[in-house]
Amino acid sequence: MKIIADLHTHTNISEHAFSTLEENCIAANKAGLQAVGITNHGPALEDGASHWHFRSLGKNNPGKMHGVYLISGIELNIMPEGNVDLEEEYMENLDLKIASFHQEIFYPKDKNHVNDMLSEALLNKNINVFGHLGNEIFKFDYEMIISQCNKYNKIVEVNNHSFAQRPGSDVNCFEIVKLCKKYEVPIIVNSDAHISSAIGHFDESIKLLNEVGYPEELVVNSSIERLRDYFKQIRGIDICNR
Ligand SMILES: [Zn+2]
Ligand SMILES: [Zn+2]
Repeated sequence: MKIIADLHTHTNISEHAFSTLEENCIAANKAGLQAVGITNHGPALEDGASHWHFRSLGKNNPGKMHGVYLISGIELNIMPEGNVDLEEEYMENLDLKIASFHQEIFYPKDKNHVNDMLSEALLNKNINVFGHLGNEIFKFDYEMIISQCNKYNKIVEVNNHSFAQRPGSDVNCFEIVKLCKKYEVPIIVNSDAHISSAIGHFDESIKLLNEVGYPEELVVNSSIERLRDYFKQIRGIDICNR
């Protein structure tokens, strides 16, 4: 399986990431990718970007930079009530909205709390992707949530950064990917790079998908045609011509 786009990367708009938007594009091109997504953290995280960043990124996306298609996005924080941390008006021009849990903001009360937050997030039309769901701290009823993803047009991320950063992710992601296969929920594979040199690193994620026997045709960033179709579906845009 070949991954042709890395749609979850951070830039030095945050102090805990170290490369510019242009450096990320150059690195994506060098890694042989066709598209890169810029998805900085939402404002609830202490080191997240402000609403100015997201509004401007959405409006000023040139479409292509340094040989790769540029996807403007955000990594929203799912908050304790299941809502997200940016008002709709600031993200209406963004292409991709990933929503994730971060223990730097809060720890969940228990598994039921996480189930409730995700049930609420399923209903949120501003969320396209659930990011790094395998975090042990935010464990939930996998079958209950994954079985509903297609109904609410949500796809699931397999995040390569998780295997090193979030203990338990390997076992949990295996279960999640198995359920995605069972319910035919599309997956996106991303690096979650915080420095340009990490862009295009997907080895652990691809290994996991192969172990599960997850079908390539359901991986939205496994070909440019699939990626194009995905953005036509969720945004009504052609990422290769705008
Ligand atoms: Zn994250
Ligand atoms: Zn991230």
